[in-house]
Amino acid sequence: MKKLFALAAIAAVSLGAHAQTYPGTKPISIVVPFTAGGPTDRVARDLAEAMRKFVPGSNFVVENAAGAGGTIGATKVARAAPDGHTLLLHHIGMAATPALYRKLAYKTLDDFEYLGMINDVPMTLIGKPQLPANTYRDFENYIRANAGKLNIAHAGLGSASHLCGLLWQSTLQTKDAMTTIPFGGTAPAMTALIGGQVDVMCDQTTNTTQQIESGRVKAFAVTTAKPLSTHPVLKHYPSLQEMGLKGFNLTIWHGLYAPKGTPEAITKTLNEALKKALKDPDFIKKNEGLGALVVNDNRTEPAEHKKFVAAEMAKIKTAVDAAGKYAD
Ligand code: ASP
Repeated sequence: MKKLFALAAIAAVSLGAHAQTYPGTKPISIVVPFTAGGPTDRVARDLAEAMRKFVPGSNFVVENAAGAGGTIGATKVARAAPDGHTLLLHHIGMAATPALYRKLAYKTLDDFEYLGMINDVPMTLIGKPQLPANTYRDFENYIRANAGKLNIAHAGLGSASHLCGLLWQSTLQTKDAMTTIPFGGTAPAMTALIGGQVDVMCDQTTNTTQQIESGRVKAFAVTTAKPLSTHPVLKHYPSLQEMGLKGFNLTIWHGLYAPKGTPEAITKTLNEALKKALKDPDFIKKNEGLGALVVNDNRTEPAEHKKFVAAEMAKIKTAVDAAGKYAD
């Protein structure tokens, strides 16, 4: 027994010592559960740059672990050493996948330390540049007239693009209007859309704003309840709700997580750095330019972040169970 206490004391001391020297020379890896160059990756790279300023001596790197709607990357982090060197940056899929995948390799609420939320990002409904439609009305008519012939890209079951496509298609009431084409993220899906290999996609403004502005894709609507009337590019598009899709209101949120059991001193350091990053004018400006809003409420506190995810999980589960469609 004495020996056990001694061992526990040594473990506590070494964890404490580790927290004191954190981060040391080892990089802090932010795992993005989607492909490089996409919207989640973009948020992670901008955040890494901002966080670097507020964790002295740190070297934040971004690692992409794409696949299965974000569940591969999330599993990787749930199983990583809880030493503050492997973090997860995930979006609404954190709350959607527990409803869609009945056999998930991790428990969303139990297997992570919640470090705080990052931003809220609207989505846009976009199409390949060759589509003949120029307004949302024309676009909807075109889809109905070509039911069964078109395809819609997404980033895997449980991804934001999948959720958006599902919600939107269910309002069209045109059975099997489009075939879904899954990708490891919406960066490769965007390339396919620009190239005309896929017809339609719904994706975060952090990936679409620049492509819309440069005319590489056509935009038809935004997914927020109201149009984004102050944004220089996105203000030109109606909201789906305005177009008659009653109650349609979808915003994608991103949060930061560490494996369960990460010492409190480390999670505190990371949460404090995150909160400072969210006040960083450069980070705020980058987000606003891409139609995203940096979180500026109590969801930056770990307990509130977790509460928010739990509420989102319950909301999405009700919708998924009602539809009766699962990923496994
Ligand atoms: N935007 C993607 C999604 O639909 C993920 C990504 O590639 O960042 O979830």
